[in-house]
Amino acid sequence: MPIYEFVCRACRRKLSFLVRDITAPFALRCSFCGNTELSRVISRFACHKSLSTVWDESGEPTMHPGEDYYRDPRNIGRWVEKKFRNMGQELPSGVQEKIQAARDGVLPEPLKDLESASPTAAYD
Ligand SMILES: [Zn+2]
Repeated sequence: MPIYEFVCRACRRKLSFLVRDITAPFALRCSFCGNTELSRVISRFACHKSLSTVWDESGEPTMHPGEDYYRDPRNIGRWVEKKFRNMGQELPSGVQEKIQAARDGVLPEPLKDLESASPTAAYD
């Protein structure tokens, strides 16, 4: 259910309306002053995280200070394995095979396309 945000043109307060049925007309009225002239506000729907928040949540790379974590192919897929383990789920065999192949230097098909898209590829 979308939430629409408006600003009251009279008192400038911000109002949020949860719209249960987008096809049904809904009355817009300021809940503070009763004014019916409201201006639509573009809602924020993206959640921006700081790099340190991302690191706090994933544990990388601060979990391994001083190591060249991302350059070590043995670490490919570690985060996925950890998440499945934390959820008490067994990693699907297809995923495990792809991770092992990547650790062995064989990239999954969609990533192989990236090789041809490298900056130097155009000059070959
Ligand atoms: Zn108002």
